[in-house]
Amino acid sequence: MAEKTRVRFAPSPTGPLHMGGVRTALYNYLYAKQRGGDFILRIEDTDSQRFVPGAEEYIIEALAWCGISPDEGVEGGKIAEEASAKHPHAPYRQSQRRHLYREYAEKLVKDGNAYYAFDTSEELDALRKEYESRGETFTYNFKVRHSLATSLYLSGEETERRLRENNHWVIRFKVPEDRVVKMSDMIRGEIEVNTNTLDDKVLWKAADELPTYHLANIVDDHLMEITDVIRGEEWLPSLPLHYLLYEALGWDKEQPRFAHLSLLLKPDGKGKLSKRDGDRLGFPVFPLEWKNSEGEVSRGYREDGYFPEAFVNLLAFLGWNPGTEQEIFSLEELVNAFSLDRVVKSGAKFNPDKAKWYNQEYLRMHDDKLLAVGFERYLAKMGISSDIGYTEKIVSLLKERAAFISDFWDLGGYFFIAPSEYDMAVKSKFWKEETPAILGELSSILSSTEDFSRDEIERILPAVIKERGWQMGSVMNTLRLALVGASKGPGVADIIALLGKDETCARIERIIRSFA
Ligand code: GLU
Repeated sequence: MAEKTRVRFAPSPTGPLHMGGVRTALYNYLYAKQRGGDFILRIEDTDSQRFVPGAEEYIIEALAWCGISPDEGVEGGKIAEEASAKHPHAPYRQSQRRHLYREYAEKLVKDGNAYYAFDTSEELDALRKEYESRGETFTYNFKVRHSLATSLYLSGEETERRLRENNHWVIRFKVPEDRVVKMSDMIRGEIEVNTNTLDDKVLWKAADELPTYHLANIVDDHLMEITDVIRGEEWLPSLPLHYLLYEALGWDKEQPRFAHLSLLLKPDGKGKLSKRDGDRLGFPVFPLEWKNSEGEVSRGYREDGYFPEAFVNLLAFLGWNPGTEQEIFSLEELVNAFSLDRVVKSGAKFNPDKAKWYNQEYLRMHDDKLLAVGFERYLAKMGISSDIGYTEKIVSLLKERAAFISDFWDLGGYFFIAPSEYDMAVKSKFWKEETPAILGELSSILSSTEDFSRDEIERILPAVIKERGWQMGSVMNTLRLALVGASKGPGVADIIALLGKDETCARIERIIRSFA
Protein backbone atom coordinates (compact mmCIF):
# COMPACT_ATOMS: atom_id res chain seq x y z
CA MET A 1 0.00 0.00 0.00
CA ALA A 2 1.31 3.43 -0.91
CA GLU A 3 2.28 5.52 2.11
CA LYS A 4 -0.25 8.10 3.18
CA THR A 5 1.09 11.64 3.03
CA ARG A 6 1.10 13.30 6.42
CA VAL A 7 2.39 16.85 6.80
CA ARG A 8 2.32 19.17 9.75
CA PHE A 9 2.33 22.87 10.40
CA ALA A 10 4.17 23.30 13.68
CA PRO A 11 4.11 26.93 14.82
CA SER A 12 5.34 28.09 18.19
CA PRO A 13 2.78 30.28 19.96
CA THR A 14 5.15 33.21 20.34
CA GLY A 15 2.94 35.87 18.76
CA PRO A 16 0.64 36.41 15.80
CA LEU A 17 1.29 34.31 12.74
CA HIS A 18 3.18 36.29 10.09
CA MET A 19 1.78 35.95 6.55
CA GLY A 20 4.91 33.93 5.71
CA GLY A 21 3.79 31.41 8.33
CA VAL A 22 0.36 31.21 6.76
CA ARG A 23 2.03 30.57 3.42
CA THR A 24 3.97 27.67 4.98
CA ALA A 25 0.70 26.25 6.32
CA LEU A 26 -0.94 26.72 2.92
CA TYR A 27 1.82 24.95 0.98
CA ASN A 28 1.68 22.07 3.47
CA TYR A 29 -2.08 21.88 3.08
CA LEU A 30 -1.95 21.95 -0.73
CA TYR A 31 0.78 19.33 -0.81
CA ALA A 32 -1.15 16.98 1.48
CA LYS A 33 -4.54 17.45 -0.12
CA GLN A 34 -3.21 16.85 -3.61
CA ARG A 35 -2.00 13.48 -2.40
CA GLY A 36 -5.14 12.63 -0.45
CA GLY A 37 -3.11 13.05 2.72
CA ASP A 38 -3.52 14.66 6.12
CA PHE A 39 -2.62 18.12 7.32
CA ILE A 40 -1.78 18.29 11.01
CA LEU A 41 -1.58 21.32 13.28
CA ARG A 42 0.92 20.82 16.08
CA ILE A 43 1.67 23.52 18.60
CA GLU A 44 5.34 23.69 19.58
CA ASP A 45 5.13 25.36 22.96
CA THR A 46 8.11 23.94 24.80
CA ASP A 47 9.76 27.33 25.17
CA SER A 48 7.76 28.75 28.04
CA GLN A 49 9.85 31.96 28.03
CA ARG A 50 8.53 32.90 24.63
CA PHE A 51 4.94 31.78 25.15
CA VAL A 52 2.43 34.51 24.33
CA PRO A 53 -1.15 34.14 25.59
CA GLY A 54 -3.68 34.16 22.79
CA ALA A 55 -1.17 33.23 20.09
CA GLU A 56 -2.42 29.66 19.76
CA GLU A 57 -6.03 30.81 19.43
CA TYR A 58 -4.86 33.34 16.86
CA ILE A 59 -3.16 30.63 14.79
CA ILE A 60 -6.26 28.45 14.86
CA GLU A 61 -8.54 31.32 13.90
CA ALA A 62 -6.23 32.49 11.12
CA LEU A 63 -6.10 29.05 9.52
CA ALA A 64 -9.87 28.73 9.83
CA TRP A 65 -10.35 32.12 8.17
CA CYS A 66 -8.19 30.97 5.26
CA GLY A 67 -10.15 27.73 4.94
CA ILE A 68 -7.04 25.65 5.65
CA SER A 69 -8.54 23.20 8.09
CA PRO A 70 -6.36 20.67 9.83
CA ASP A 71 -7.31 17.00 9.72
CA GLU A 72 -5.72 16.53 13.11
CA GLY A 73 -4.50 18.96 15.69
CA VAL A 74 -5.37 21.32 18.47
CA GLU A 75 -8.72 22.98 18.19
CA GLY A 76 -10.24 26.12 19.52
CA GLY A 77 -7.38 26.72 21.91
CA LYS A 78 -7.76 23.35 23.58
CA ILE A 79 -7.54 19.85 22.32
CA ALA A 80 -10.88 18.46 21.32
CA GLU A 81 -10.61 15.99 24.16
CA GLU A 82 -12.94 13.33 22.92
CA ALA A 83 -11.64 13.12 19.39
CA SER A 84 -8.02 13.39 20.38
CA ALA A 85 -8.17 10.95 23.27
CA LYS A 86 -9.08 8.29 20.75
CA HIS A 87 -6.51 9.39 18.24
CA PRO A 88 -3.20 7.53 18.38
CA HIS A 89 -1.21 10.66 17.53
CA ALA A 90 -2.76 12.98 20.10
CA PRO A 91 -2.22 15.22 21.92
CA TYR A 92 -0.93 17.84 19.49
CA ARG A 93 0.39 20.42 21.89
CA GLN A 94 3.97 19.65 22.91
CA SER A 95 3.54 20.86 26.47
CA GLN A 96 1.00 18.07 26.87
CA ARG A 97 3.43 15.53 25.46
CA ARG A 98 6.26 16.44 27.83
CA HIS A 99 6.34 12.98 29.40
CA LEU A 100 7.27 11.49 26.03
CA TYR A 101 10.56 13.16 25.28
CA ARG A 102 12.87 12.30 28.15
CA GLU A 103 13.15 8.62 27.28
CA TYR A 104 14.47 9.53 23.83
CA ALA A 105 17.01 11.95 25.27
CA GLU A 106 18.13 9.27 27.74
CA LYS A 107 18.35 6.69 24.98
CA LEU A 108 20.66 8.99 23.06
CA VAL A 109 22.85 9.30 26.15
CA LYS A 110 22.85 5.55 26.69
CA ASP A 111 23.89 4.91 23.10
CA GLY A 112 26.72 7.44 23.30
CA ASN A 113 25.02 9.97 21.03
CA ALA A 114 24.32 12.54 23.70
CA TYR A 115 25.69 13.50 27.11
CA TYR A 116 24.82 15.30 30.31
CA ALA A 117 26.29 18.77 30.58
CA PHE A 118 26.54 20.52 33.92
CA ASP A 119 27.87 23.95 33.01
CA THR A 120 25.92 26.75 34.58
CA SER A 121 24.81 29.64 32.42
CA GLU A 122 27.27 31.88 34.32
CA GLU A 123 30.14 29.57 33.39
CA LEU A 124 29.07 29.54 29.77
CA ASP A 125 28.71 33.32 29.73
CA ALA A 126 32.21 33.67 31.16
CA LEU A 127 33.55 31.34 28.45
CA ARG A 128 31.80 33.32 25.74
CA LYS A 129 33.30 36.54 27.07
CA GLU A 130 36.75 35.00 27.30
CA TYR A 131 36.59 33.83 23.68
CA GLU A 132 35.25 37.19 22.59
CA SER A 133 38.16 38.98 24.26
CA ARG A 134 40.46 36.92 22.02
CA GLY A 135 38.35 37.80 18.98
CA GLU A 136 36.97 34.26 18.79
CA THR A 137 33.52 32.76 19.13
CA PHE A 138 32.81 30.10 21.69
CA THR A 139 31.10 27.06 20.21
CA TYR A 140 30.05 24.11 22.35
CA ASN A 141 31.46 21.36 20.14
CA PHE A 142 33.93 18.49 19.80
CA LYS A 143 36.86 20.82 20.34
CA VAL A 144 35.83 21.95 23.80
CA ARG A 145 33.38 19.43 25.15
CA HIS A 146 35.98 17.24 26.86
CA SER A 147 37.31 20.11 28.89
CA LEU A 148 33.85 21.07 30.16
CA ALA A 149 31.73 19.64 32.92
CA THR A 150 30.06 16.83 31.02
CA SER A 151 29.34 13.17 31.57
CA LEU A 152 31.82 12.45 28.78
CA TYR A 153 34.65 13.44 31.05
CA LEU A 154 33.40 12.92 34.59
CA SER A 155 33.31 9.54 36.27
CA GLY A 156 30.03 7.64 36.40
CA GLU A 157 29.72 8.30 40.09
CA GLU A 158 30.41 11.99 39.80
CA THR A 159 27.88 12.24 36.98
CA GLU A 160 25.26 10.50 39.13
CA ARG A 161 26.02 12.80 42.00
CA ARG A 162 25.66 15.91 39.92
CA LEU A 163 22.45 14.68 38.31
CA ARG A 164 20.95 14.27 41.76
CA GLU A 165 22.42 17.44 43.19
CA ASN A 166 20.28 19.93 41.32
CA ASN A 167 18.38 20.40 38.11
CA HIS A 168 20.75 22.77 36.37
CA TRP A 169 21.93 20.18 33.88
CA VAL A 170 20.97 19.59 30.29
CA ILE A 171 21.36 16.82 27.73
CA ARG A 172 23.39 17.83 24.69
CA PHE A 173 23.69 16.08 21.36
CA LYS A 174 27.15 14.76 20.65
CA VAL A 175 27.73 15.84 17.08
CA PRO A 176 30.07 13.32 15.41
CA GLU A 177 33.43 14.73 14.40
CA ASP A 178 34.42 15.52 10.84
CA ARG A 179 31.66 13.80 8.97
CA VAL A 180 29.90 15.05 5.87
CA VAL A 181 26.12 14.98 6.25
CA LYS A 182 24.48 14.54 2.87
CA MET A 183 20.98 15.95 2.80
CA SER A 184 18.28 16.34 0.26
CA ASP A 185 15.76 19.14 -0.03
CA MET A 186 12.79 18.92 -2.40
CA ILE A 187 13.26 22.55 -3.43
CA ARG A 188 17.00 23.07 -3.11
CA GLY A 189 18.34 19.68 -4.17
CA GLU A 190 21.35 18.02 -2.55
CA ILE A 191 23.13 19.76 0.31
CA GLU A 192 26.29 18.74 2.17
CA VAL A 193 27.54 20.02 5.50
CA ASN A 194 30.61 19.03 7.49
CA THR A 195 29.70 18.26 11.08
CA ASN A 196 32.65 20.29 12.36
CA THR A 197 30.61 23.41 11.61
CA LEU A 198 27.86 22.31 14.01
CA ASP A 199 27.50 22.74 17.75
CA ASP A 200 26.30 20.29 20.39
CA LYS A 201 22.75 21.55 20.72
CA VAL A 202 20.82 21.19 23.96
CA LEU A 203 18.10 18.56 23.55
CA TRP A 204 16.56 18.40 27.00
CA LYS A 205 16.62 20.65 30.07
CA ALA A 206 16.25 19.29 33.58
CA ALA A 207 15.29 22.73 34.90
CA ASP A 208 11.84 22.67 33.27
CA GLU A 209 11.85 18.99 32.33
CA LEU A 210 11.23 19.97 28.77
CA PRO A 211 12.85 19.14 25.46
CA THR A 212 14.15 21.88 23.19
CA TYR A 213 12.66 22.45 19.77
CA HIS A 214 15.07 20.06 18.03
CA LEU A 215 14.34 16.96 20.09
CA ALA A 216 10.60 17.55 20.41
CA ASN A 217 10.29 18.27 16.72
CA ILE A 218 12.09 15.09 15.61
CA VAL A 219 10.36 12.86 18.15
CA ASP A 220 6.94 14.22 17.24
CA ASP A 221 7.48 14.06 13.50
CA HIS A 222 8.45 10.43 13.99
CA LEU A 223 5.63 9.49 16.37
CA MET A 224 3.07 11.34 14.29
CA GLU A 225 4.30 9.53 11.17
CA ILE A 226 5.04 12.72 9.29
CA THR A 227 6.13 11.94 5.74
CA ASP A 228 7.06 15.41 4.50
CA VAL A 229 8.34 18.46 6.34
CA ILE A 230 7.71 21.74 4.54
CA ARG A 231 8.91 24.73 6.55
CA GLY A 232 10.63 28.09 6.37
CA GLU A 233 14.25 28.39 5.33
CA GLU A 234 15.22 29.66 8.76
CA TRP A 235 15.22 25.98 9.71
CA LEU A 236 17.66 24.91 6.99
CA PRO A 237 20.71 25.36 9.27
CA SER A 238 19.09 22.86 11.68
CA LEU A 239 18.68 20.22 8.98
CA PRO A 240 22.08 18.52 9.50
CA LEU A 241 21.33 18.15 13.20
CA HIS A 242 17.91 16.75 12.39
CA TYR A 243 19.45 14.22 9.99
CA LEU A 244 21.92 13.20 12.68
CA LEU A 245 19.15 12.88 15.26
CA TYR A 246 17.10 10.63 12.99
CA GLU A 247 20.16 8.49 12.49
CA ALA A 248 21.07 8.36 16.17
CA LEU A 249 17.53 7.40 17.12
CA GLY A 250 17.57 4.66 14.46
CA TRP A 251 14.81 6.31 12.47
CA ASP A 252 16.77 7.40 9.41
CA LYS A 253 15.13 4.81 7.14
CA GLU A 254 11.72 6.36 7.78
CA GLN A 255 12.76 9.97 8.10
CA PRO A 256 10.55 12.50 6.32
CA ARG A 257 11.42 14.31 3.10
CA PHE A 258 12.26 17.99 3.60
CA ALA A 259 11.49 21.20 1.76
CA HIS A 260 12.59 24.64 2.96
CA LEU A 261 10.66 27.63 1.65
CA SER A 262 12.42 30.86 0.88
CA LEU A 263 11.61 34.06 2.72
CA LEU A 264 9.01 36.64 1.84
CA LEU A 265 10.91 39.78 0.94
CA LYS A 266 10.17 43.49 1.25
CA PRO A 267 8.62 45.10 -1.85
CA ASP A 268 12.07 46.34 -2.94
CA GLY A 269 13.52 42.86 -2.46
CA LYS A 270 16.00 44.06 0.18
CA GLY A 271 15.52 41.87 3.21
CA LYS A 272 12.80 40.01 5.01
CA LEU A 273 9.26 41.37 4.95
CA SER A 274 8.57 42.78 8.40
CA LYS A 275 5.76 44.41 10.30
CA ARG A 276 7.65 47.69 10.01
CA ASP A 277 7.48 47.51 6.19
CA GLY A 278 3.75 46.99 6.49
CA ASP A 279 3.35 50.00 8.78
CA ARG A 280 5.58 52.13 6.57
CA LEU A 281 3.99 51.19 3.25
CA GLY A 282 0.44 50.68 4.48
CA PHE A 283 -0.32 47.00 4.25
CA PRO A 284 -0.82 44.21 6.81
CA VAL A 285 1.70 41.44 7.36
CA PHE A 286 -0.65 39.43 9.57
CA PRO A 287 -3.74 37.52 8.49
CA LEU A 288 -5.84 38.87 11.36
CA GLU A 289 -5.60 41.95 13.49
CA TRP A 290 -3.47 41.45 16.61
CA LYS A 291 -3.34 43.43 19.81
CA ASN A 292 -0.21 42.91 21.86
CA SER A 293 0.08 43.11 25.63
CA GLU A 294 0.83 46.84 25.41
CA GLY A 295 -2.40 47.35 23.53
CA GLU A 296 -0.59 48.10 20.28
CA VAL A 297 -2.69 46.96 17.33
CA SER A 298 -1.23 45.40 14.18
CA ARG A 299 -3.50 45.41 11.20
CA GLY A 300 -4.73 42.21 9.62
CA TYR A 301 -5.83 41.26 6.11
CA ARG A 302 -9.24 40.25 7.41
CA GLU A 303 -9.90 43.57 9.12
CA ASP A 304 -8.46 45.46 6.15
CA GLY A 305 -11.26 43.99 4.04
CA TYR A 306 -9.48 41.23 2.15
CA PHE A 307 -11.53 38.24 1.13
CA PRO A 308 -9.97 35.07 2.52
CA GLU A 309 -9.99 33.55 -0.98
CA ALA A 310 -8.01 36.51 -2.31
CA PHE A 311 -5.55 36.31 0.57
CA VAL A 312 -4.99 32.59 -0.01
CA ASN A 313 -4.61 33.14 -3.75
CA LEU A 314 -2.06 35.93 -3.35
CA LEU A 315 -0.14 33.95 -0.74
CA ALA A 316 0.06 30.91 -3.01
CA PHE A 317 1.70 33.10 -5.65
CA LEU A 318 4.36 34.39 -3.27
CA GLY A 319 7.01 31.90 -4.23
CA TRP A 320 5.07 29.61 -6.53
CA ASN A 321 3.54 29.94 -9.99
CA PRO A 322 1.66 27.44 -12.10
CA GLY A 323 3.80 28.02 -15.20
CA THR A 324 0.78 29.35 -17.09
CA GLU A 325 -0.89 32.75 -17.42
CA GLN A 326 -3.65 31.85 -14.97
CA GLU A 327 -3.50 33.93 -11.80
CA ILE A 328 -6.87 33.35 -10.19
CA PHE A 329 -7.12 30.05 -8.38
CA SER A 330 -9.62 28.78 -5.87
CA LEU A 331 -8.28 26.69 -3.01
CA GLU A 332 -9.44 23.53 -4.83
CA GLU A 333 -7.71 24.63 -8.01
CA LEU A 334 -4.55 25.32 -6.04
CA VAL A 335 -4.71 21.82 -4.58
CA ASN A 336 -4.66 20.44 -8.11
CA ALA A 337 -2.09 22.79 -9.57
CA PHE A 338 0.45 23.12 -6.76
CA SER A 339 3.82 21.46 -7.00
CA LEU A 340 7.02 21.93 -5.04
CA ASP A 341 9.13 21.91 -8.18
CA ARG A 342 7.54 25.20 -9.18
CA VAL A 343 8.41 26.79 -5.84
CA VAL A 344 11.21 29.32 -6.24
CA LYS A 345 14.52 28.95 -4.43
CA SER A 346 15.05 32.69 -4.18
CA GLY A 347 13.01 34.95 -1.91
CA ALA A 348 9.57 36.09 -3.04
CA LYS A 349 9.08 39.84 -3.22
CA PHE A 350 5.81 41.04 -1.75
CA ASN A 351 3.96 43.50 -3.95
CA PRO A 352 1.19 45.41 -2.09
CA ASP A 353 -0.43 46.60 -5.35
CA LYS A 354 -0.68 43.04 -6.56
CA ALA A 355 -2.30 42.08 -3.25
CA LYS A 356 -4.96 44.74 -3.84
CA TRP A 357 -5.36 43.60 -7.41
CA TYR A 358 -6.20 40.12 -6.16
CA ASN A 359 -8.84 41.47 -3.86
CA GLN A 360 -10.34 43.53 -6.64
CA GLU A 361 -10.54 40.47 -8.87
CA TYR A 362 -12.33 38.54 -6.13
CA LEU A 363 -14.65 41.43 -5.40
CA ARG A 364 -15.68 41.47 -9.07
CA MET A 365 -16.38 37.78 -8.97
CA HIS A 366 -18.59 38.15 -5.90
CA ASP A 367 -22.33 38.17 -6.25
CA ASP A 368 -23.81 41.69 -5.87
CA LYS A 369 -26.18 40.47 -3.15
CA LEU A 370 -23.33 39.19 -1.02
CA LEU A 371 -21.36 42.37 -1.52
CA ALA A 372 -24.44 44.39 -0.60
CA VAL A 373 -24.82 42.43 2.62
CA GLY A 374 -21.16 43.09 3.43
CA PHE A 375 -21.54 46.76 2.60
CA GLU A 376 -24.64 47.05 4.78
CA ARG A 377 -22.64 45.68 7.68
CA TYR A 378 -20.07 48.38 7.01
CA LEU A 379 -22.81 51.03 6.85
CA ALA A 380 -24.42 49.76 10.04
CA LYS A 381 -21.17 50.45 11.89
CA MET A 382 -21.62 54.08 10.91
CA GLY A 383 -25.24 54.02 12.01
CA ILE A 384 -26.58 54.04 8.46
CA SER A 385 -29.33 51.63 7.56
CA SER A 386 -30.30 51.02 3.99
CA ASP A 387 -32.69 49.02 1.91
CA ILE A 388 -30.89 45.93 0.57
CA GLY A 389 -32.31 46.41 -2.94
CA TYR A 390 -30.96 49.97 -3.02
CA THR A 391 -27.56 48.90 -1.66
CA GLU A 392 -27.33 46.14 -4.22
CA LYS A 393 -27.93 48.57 -7.09
CA ILE A 394 -25.19 50.86 -5.76
CA VAL A 395 -22.80 47.97 -5.36
CA SER A 396 -23.42 46.81 -8.90
CA LEU A 397 -22.88 50.33 -10.22
CA LEU A 398 -19.58 50.87 -8.37
CA LYS A 399 -18.21 47.34 -8.43
CA GLU A 400 -15.78 47.84 -11.30
CA ARG A 401 -13.95 50.54 -9.42
CA ALA A 402 -13.84 48.94 -5.96
CA ALA A 403 -11.13 46.68 -4.55
CA PHE A 404 -12.61 46.48 -1.02
CA ILE A 405 -16.09 46.70 0.42
CA SER A 406 -15.02 49.90 2.18
CA ASP A 407 -14.35 51.41 -1.25
CA PHE A 408 -18.11 51.43 -1.84
CA TRP A 409 -18.30 54.05 0.86
CA ASP A 410 -15.43 56.11 -0.53
CA LEU A 411 -16.85 55.84 -4.02
CA GLY A 412 -20.53 56.21 -3.19
CA GLY A 413 -21.10 57.60 0.30
CA TYR A 414 -23.24 60.33 -1.30
CA PHE A 415 -25.88 57.70 -2.10
CA PHE A 416 -26.58 57.62 1.63
CA ILE A 417 -25.72 61.10 2.84
CA ALA A 418 -26.30 64.25 0.83
CA PRO A 419 -23.15 66.28 0.31
CA SER A 420 -22.58 68.87 3.02
CA GLU A 421 -19.63 70.42 1.25
CA TYR A 422 -18.93 71.07 -2.38
CA ASP A 423 -15.67 70.85 -4.26
CA MET A 424 -14.83 74.52 -4.75
CA ALA A 425 -12.49 73.88 -7.67
CA VAL A 426 -15.37 72.35 -9.58
CA LYS A 427 -17.60 75.20 -8.55
CA SER A 428 -15.27 77.93 -9.68
CA LYS A 429 -14.80 76.24 -13.02
CA PHE A 430 -18.43 75.48 -13.89
CA TRP A 431 -20.75 77.59 -11.72
CA LYS A 432 -21.97 80.56 -13.77
CA GLU A 433 -24.30 83.42 -13.01
CA GLU A 434 -27.15 81.66 -14.76
CA THR A 435 -26.49 78.29 -13.06
CA PRO A 436 -29.04 78.73 -10.21
CA ALA A 437 -31.79 79.48 -12.69
CA ILE A 438 -30.81 76.60 -14.94
CA LEU A 439 -30.62 74.11 -12.08
CA GLY A 440 -33.94 75.38 -10.74
CA GLU A 441 -35.56 74.77 -14.08
CA LEU A 442 -33.97 71.35 -14.36
CA SER A 443 -35.30 70.48 -10.94
CA SER A 444 -38.84 71.30 -11.95
CA ILE A 445 -38.49 69.38 -15.21
CA LEU A 446 -37.26 66.36 -13.29
CA SER A 447 -40.00 66.61 -10.71
CA SER A 448 -42.62 66.46 -13.40
CA THR A 449 -40.96 63.53 -15.17
CA GLU A 450 -43.16 60.45 -14.85
CA ASP A 451 -40.69 57.83 -15.98
CA PHE A 452 -37.72 58.18 -13.64
CA SER A 453 -35.75 55.31 -15.12
CA ARG A 454 -32.09 55.67 -15.89
CA ASP A 455 -32.63 55.38 -19.63
CA GLU A 456 -35.35 57.99 -19.69
CA ILE A 457 -33.21 60.45 -17.68
CA GLU A 458 -30.27 59.76 -19.91
CA ARG A 459 -32.48 60.69 -22.86
CA ILE A 460 -34.14 63.77 -21.34
CA LEU A 461 -31.10 65.52 -19.88
CA PRO A 462 -29.07 66.21 -23.02
CA ALA A 463 -32.24 66.85 -24.98
CA VAL A 464 -33.36 69.56 -22.57
CA ILE A 465 -29.88 71.12 -22.37
CA LYS A 466 -29.63 71.25 -26.13
CA GLU A 467 -33.14 72.58 -26.61
CA ARG A 468 -32.59 75.45 -24.13
CA GLY A 469 -29.18 76.22 -25.59
CA TRP A 470 -27.44 75.67 -22.22
CA GLN A 471 -23.78 74.81 -21.95
CA MET A 472 -23.53 71.06 -21.65
CA GLY A 473 -20.28 71.01 -19.57
CA SER A 474 -21.41 73.63 -17.11
CA VAL A 475 -24.85 72.14 -16.52
CA MET A 476 -23.75 68.52 -16.21
CA ASN A 477 -20.88 69.37 -13.88
CA THR A 478 -22.89 71.59 -11.56
CA LEU A 479 -25.66 69.02 -11.54
CA ARG A 480 -23.16 66.38 -10.51
CA LEU A 481 -21.75 68.79 -7.91
CA ALA A 482 -25.25 69.14 -6.45
CA LEU A 483 -25.73 65.37 -6.21
CA VAL A 484 -22.25 64.17 -5.28
CA GLY A 485 -20.43 67.21 -3.94
CA ALA A 486 -17.48 66.51 -6.25
CA SER A 487 -16.69 65.55 -9.80
CA LYS A 488 -16.53 61.80 -9.14
CA GLY A 489 -19.00 59.00 -9.61
CA PRO A 490 -20.77 57.02 -12.30
CA GLY A 491 -23.06 58.56 -14.94
CA VAL A 492 -25.31 61.40 -13.72
CA ALA A 493 -28.39 59.57 -15.05
CA ASP A 494 -27.46 56.51 -12.98
CA ILE A 495 -27.10 58.63 -9.87
CA ILE A 496 -30.37 60.49 -10.43
CA ALA A 497 -32.33 57.31 -11.10
CA LEU A 498 -30.97 55.71 -7.95
CA LEU A 499 -31.41 58.72 -5.68
CA GLY A 500 -34.99 59.11 -6.91
CA LYS A 501 -36.99 62.18 -7.70
CA ASP A 502 -37.40 63.72 -4.25
CA GLU A 503 -33.79 63.37 -3.19
CA THR A 504 -32.47 64.58 -6.54
CA CYS A 505 -34.62 67.68 -6.46
CA ALA A 506 -33.85 68.33 -2.80
CA ARG A 507 -30.11 68.22 -3.53
CA ILE A 508 -30.48 70.60 -6.46
CA GLU A 509 -32.46 73.06 -4.35
CA ARG A 510 -29.87 72.76 -1.64
CA ILE A 511 -26.90 73.73 -3.79
CA ILE A 512 -28.82 76.66 -5.20
CA ARG A 513 -29.44 77.88 -1.67
CA SER A 514 -25.86 77.24 -0.63
CA PHE A 515 -24.39 79.42 -3.32
CA ALA A 516 -27.13 82.05 -3.33
N1 GLU B 1 8.18 25.42 15.86
C1 GLU B 1 8.91 25.73 14.67
C2 GLU B 1 8.46 27.12 14.22
O1 GLU B 1 7.95 27.82 14.99
C3 GLU B 1 8.65 24.69 13.62
C4 GLU B 1 9.73 24.48 12.63
C5 GLU B 1 9.46 23.22 11.84
O2 GLU B 1 8.47 23.22 11.08
O3 GLU B 1 10.20 22.27 11.97
O4 GLU B 1 8.62 27.55 13.10
